[in-house]
Amino acid sequence: MEGRQSVVVGEYLHLIYRIQVMGRVVKASTLVQRLDSSPSTVHATLRRLERDGLVNLNDRKEIELTEKGKESAAGIAHRHNLAEYFLWHELKIPWYLVHTHAHSLEHAITPLVAARLEEYLGHPKFCPHGSPMPGIEHPHTPLLPLSEASTGTKIEVVMLDESIEDEEDLLKYLQDSLVMPGQQHMVQERIDVTHTLVLQSENGLTNLPYDIAALIDVREIC
Ligand SMILES: [Zn+2]
Ligand SMILES: [Zn+2]
Repeated sequence: MEGRQSVVVGEYLHLIYRIQVMGRVVKASTLVQRLDSSPSTVHATLRRLERDGLVNLNDRKEIELTEKGKESAAGIAHRHNLAEYFLWHELKIPWYLVHTHAHSLEHAITPLVAARLEEYLGHPKFCPHGSPMPGIEHPHTPLLPLSEASTGTKIEVVMLDESIEDEEDLLKYLQDSLVMPGQQHMVQERIDVTHTLVLQSENGLTNLPYDIAALIDVREIC
């Protein structure tokens, strides 16, 4: 079992990695908000990560992973995604809960176990929320934010933004509404006055606010 220090370091690296994969910049304030931590704790930890050669801060105070940091973060993301996949497919833990449990498990998975798990699971390419494994690209291009899908089109959910994985209540709502990777929906209506998208699936109608729909990547089917 890793020490508490390295678990914290891993948490920071993984979160920075997840946000950067989505093409967004990370600042100390982002980490304060996302980790529900104090600015002084975040700054102290960042100084340690910088000292250990895992992150750099550029002139705009943006945090970037170094090559060493990226390699370490990709390893954690890989173990996390494998754990999610295992919990969902093999242990049948509900989809909306697997991120939280994988978050605890990822630290206990040794390289040997990760390699065996990957083989056992048949080399999954995506986590259950659609995030590609490190080094894998999405085959379906182009992806579109669900908030931009037009009325009357049929869409397939491809990937949720990483930030949704930390929102258990929202994940539960999405699961109950079948807004999960691989599921298809018809965009029934866009209600601009309430900023709501209405989707139709075999489960019935689902209302999604535009700002949440903007965090869900889909591909249009027809
Ligand atoms: Zn996750
Ligand atoms: Zn995931």
